Amino acid sequence: MRYVGRFAPTPSGPLHFGSLLTAVASYLEARCIEGEWKLRIDDLDAPRVEPGAIDEILRTLECHGLCWDGGIYYQSTATDRYEAAIETLIGQALCFDCTCSRRDLRNHVVYPGTCRHRPARQRDNVAIRIRVPPIEFEFEDRLGGYFAHNLAEDVGDFVIVRRDRIIGYQLAVVVDDDAMGVTDVVRGSDLFDNTPRQLFLIEHLGFSAPQYTHVPVITERSGVKLSKHTLATAIDNRFPAQNLRTVLDLLGQNPPMLATVDALLDWATSYWRLSAVPRGATLETWQSI
Ligand code: GLU
Ligand code: ZN
Repeated sequence: MRYVGRFAPTPSGPLHFGSLLTAVASYLEARCIEGEWKLRIDDLDAPRVEPGAIDEILRTLECHGLCWDGGIYYQSTATDRYEAAIETLIGQALCFDCTCSRRDLRNHVVYPGTCRHRPARQRDNVAIRIRVPPIEFEFEDRLGGYFAHNLAEDVGDFVIVRRDRIIGYQLAVVVDDDAMGVTDVVRGSDLFDNTPRQLFLIEHLGFSAPQYTHVPVITERSGVKLSKHTLATAIDNRFPAQNLRTVLDLLGQNPPMLATVDALLDWATSYWRLSAVPRGATLETWQSI
């Protein structure tokens, strides 16, 4: 069967070790069975896009030997696809306008249903939410195993179009993965519990569901996720082989002391074992990387 994987960084800054780890894991999962590996730039949230970050991400991938297939898919060029998906969901009477402010919702983990009875009119300054049913949505993660939660009780009606009219992450990701023909999603475990929401949208949009593999996110000693907002340092492109070895080591692959990126990637593609990747949502690093 055809395998299409992808890496989908948000260009809010350069890649750090956590995102390089996700890139390498998704690359190796695809390449070890001669599958395709595609690149998407998740640049929908324009205010978060940092000038220069896209070029920097591409340079980092290239100098670590992570070559993608085909052109780059930019979310910012997919507006028509998102609009079509919104129309489909509105056509199923699943959506409603939500006028609640952040303040209105501040004490709620689950959306309280305030605007649930309203229609969806695609107005400015109004968010669109989707009504979720009180049923269990489940999936089997290739690393994390079985997971289920009740959409209504655990998440509530969620946003598909934000108040500022930016398309919500849950909707964008399913539309994009479908448009790119993605069969397998390998991404960080911080997104693990978003999966049932995405499966719900996939079902209503008539897409086929990919397989999911959530790899651990790297934390520093304090247990805080390495992200662009913490102390995470950008990947130093002067030492790509060393960086790759560190990442392969964190992925439990036990890499040999090969000196070049090509030799390491060849080795890793031949000997990649998903079963060796540490389980659990986070991966503490005690060394300073
Ligand atoms: N763009 C998202 C991120 O940088 C990843 C989206 C996904 O893999 O579903 O965390
Ligand atoms: Zn509301």
